[in-house]
Amino acid sequence: MMAPEILILATTFAAGSIVGSFVALVADRWPRGEPWAAARSRCRSCDRPLGPAQLVPLISYAMQRGRCAWCRAPLPADLWLTEVGGGVVALLALGTGGSGIYESGMALFGWAMFGWALFGWALVLLALLDARHFWLPDAITLPLIVLGLVAAAVVPQPDLLARASGAALGWGGLEALRQIWRRARGHEALGGGDPKLLGAIGAWLGLSALPAVVLIAALGGLGWAAIQALRGRPAGGMTPIPLGTMLALAALVVLGWPRIQMV
Ligand SMILES: [Zn+2]
Repeated sequence: MMAPEILILATTFAAGSIVGSFVALVADRWPRGEPWAAARSRCRSCDRPLGPAQLVPLISYAMQRGRCAWCRAPLPADLWLTEVGGGVVALLALGTGGSGIYESGMALFGWAMFGWALFGWALVLLALLDARHFWLPDAITLPLIVLGLVAAAVVPQPDLLARASGAALGWGGLEALRQIWRRARGHEALGGGDPKLLGAIGAWLGLSALPAVVLIAALGGLGWAAIQALRGRPAGGMTPIPLGTMLALAALVVLGWPRIQMV
């Protein structure tokens, strides 16, 4: 690999991890109703503001050994996980600047790249919110559906028909399943946000990607339940599984699959 290529990859990852840091901030503050755009980052334990050096993702985390510089309270592990996730999303989007997913060849940067990166970062945010709060806000999922359809104008693959049918069948199919389950069992097995998220994934990845997304999400859910059982928590029907987290992570795997194969 050439030195300029390494520089481009490193810069892209660093830029993505800064967005990941912001995603972690939003995921932390939004559910508590705090303003997330205005105030500076603060330690969640001692409430002291973090200095500029502490705002550099990952490096500052590693230098502080995962602790607040003031009160030594451990910083949550999902902070650096989200920063890594944001960087990985940027790397996945790199090289998608031309037409469909990784078909462009030379066009490293372009509107398509920013579109895919935006989709990926939104998935990371939704995965975090659903894992922590079982919450997939309409304010993210619904605009994501619209953006996915609009993106067909800039990104030819998947085309508008594939995106529209993916959105309709993703949302409609899972919503139908949710209603049937509720009538048959008398309780909610799925949140109302899960069908909208699958609709958004369909609007971006197209109809043909949905079976793989659902299969990987189901396997992820089984794995998650197994981990809970190993930790001694009841694995019966009472342990809720954050399906939205599984769907979002599965969509990232499917989005990145052509890129992973190229490495
Ligand atoms: Zn602190």
